Amino acid sequence: MGDITKDKIISRLRDILGKEYVETDPAAIKLYSKEASGLEGVAVAVVFPEKTEEISEIVRFAYENDIKIYPQGSATDLAGAAIPQHHGIVISFDRMNKIKGYSIVDSYIIAEAGARVIELNDLLAKEGYMFPVDPASMKAATVGGVIAAGGGGLRGALYGTMREWLMELEVVLPDENGSVIKVGCRTTKCRQGYDLVRLFAGSEGTLGIVTEATLKITPIPENIVTVAGFFDTLEQAMDAVVGIKKARISPYAMEFIDAKTVEIGKQNLNLDWDVKGNMLIVSVSGPVEIADKHVKILSENMEKAKATNTLKATSQDEAEKLRIFDLRRACYPSAIQLAAQSMDPEKSKPLILIEDIAVPPTKLPETVKQLRDLEEKYGLPLAIFGHVGDGNLHPTTWIDATDEEAKKKVWEMFDEIMEIALKMGGTISAEHGIGLHKKKGLEMEMKHRKSEKALELMREIKKIFDPKNILNPGKVI
Ligand SMILES: Cc1cc2nc3c(=O)[nH]c(=O)nc-3n(C[C@H](O)[C@H](O)[C@H](O)COP(=O)(O)OP(=O)(O)OC[C@H]3O[C@@H](n4cnc5c(N)ncnc54)[C@H](O)[C@@H]3O)c2cc1C
Repeated sequence: MGDITKDKIISRLRDILGKEYVETDPAAIKLYSKEASGLEGVAVAVVFPEKTEEISEIVRFAYENDIKIYPQGSATDLAGAAIPQHHGIVISFDRMNKIKGYSIVDSYIIAEAGARVIELNDLLAKEGYMFPVDPASMKAATVGGVIAAGGGGLRGALYGTMREWLMELEVVLPDENGSVIKVGCRTTKCRQGYDLVRLFAGSEGTLGIVTEATLKITPIPENIVTVAGFFDTLEQAMDAVVGIKKARISPYAMEFIDAKTVEIGKQNLNLDWDVKGNMLIVSVSGPVEIADKHVKILSENMEKAKATNTLKATSQDEAEKLRIFDLRRACYPSAIQLAAQSMDPEKSKPLILIEDIAVPPTKLPETVKQLRDLEEKYGLPLAIFGHVGDGNLHPTTWIDATDEEAKKKVWEMFDEIMEIALKMGGTISAEHGIGLHKKKGLEMEMKHRKSEKALELMREIKKIFDPKNILNPGKVI
């Protein structure tokens, strides 16, 4: 914050937005200063604009007075990117949440940044269409948040991540004018010089404030079959992944949950399955007529890799009745429960940390083996689950945050997890992003690739977009 007083900041924000849309109550500010990773920051106010022009005016004011600004969706971020610091202003998109329209023929939907991903799908489902990027947090996650986080999801094996689905973005830039730009087009083919649309994807709110997006849409597949296999060892499950990948079918989803997390998930969801072990879930989309063929291919590959049991669903309805995907979505909450159960609530403070590495799928068996070795080396619990179709694993651990020794150990273990990913030819972050947690990891990765120069370029890019470093400073780079 520059020389301006807190009272003057609040007074000006009220002039721009009206008193009721500037929150200064400390309890409310505290709420908007936390994110799902457990990190917490500080802010002087939370503002709720309704229009792009209001955001532009706030940015002009912030620029003039050296005030930091923090765009925020639903704060489900897990990398430390969504928390405010430096007593700045949180810009919430709670009121900019309209879906402005869609065109089935031109294959797009237009939404304000605060619209939730699930709302896009609720609307499009009536037309037999969908927006395919589905983070496990999609009931809460916003369009702007997922764009800025560069998020992916359960269907990433087939549909990729957010950057593949962006057509046009409206963005407010952190310059002296709070300039509003529109980049990209509403046509599938679009060449506009350098690809600024995809530069904003994954920029974690550090280069511009996304206010509106035009996103590609796709038909909901006619049918989806799902087979879940249970394996005694992690390596067997990973052998099945490799086998299915070689079977000339493109999985719609390919998810993995280790045995420990399966058990706690079963308890959480009251599932009366009499199956156990490391779980691999594979879905394939296609016409109803070939559902049985797809189930056969999946089951045979799982059995070849020594699955002890399989659950089979020839349609989505059947998969829903079996609650196969409910279990996958419960993984992170299950880790939170495991953490709570392992500590005395009176004396300790559970801290859950989720990793986000990706490796080429052929390297999954060796990667999982090395992760298990780390669990033993550090004596810390490790639940392993993830979107293995694209090689993305989320090893998750938990410690008592009041235990300084455990805190030191956990960061050392996380450094080693990232080193394993890099040695396997992978990356330190597949979808959760860099935020605060992975800044060191990003440096490790670029050093590993002998590409430190790329970090310099990123720092220069940040300076060009945000010359006064007012927008979500200190994150990513
Ligand atoms: C239970 C759980 C499951 C999850 N599963 C997945 C998963 O499967 N895949 C995945 O990718 N992630 C997952 N996440 C992480 C998180 O949900 C995603 O990163 C999501 O994209 C964040 O959306 P959000 O609206 O909550 O954004 P926030 O957390 O509020 O913000 C995320 C980042 O975007 C910036 N930002 C927000 N809005 C804007 C805007 N309008 N303009 C510019 N910058 C903006 C913020 O400053 C921050 O840097 C999960 C999180 C949880 C808690």
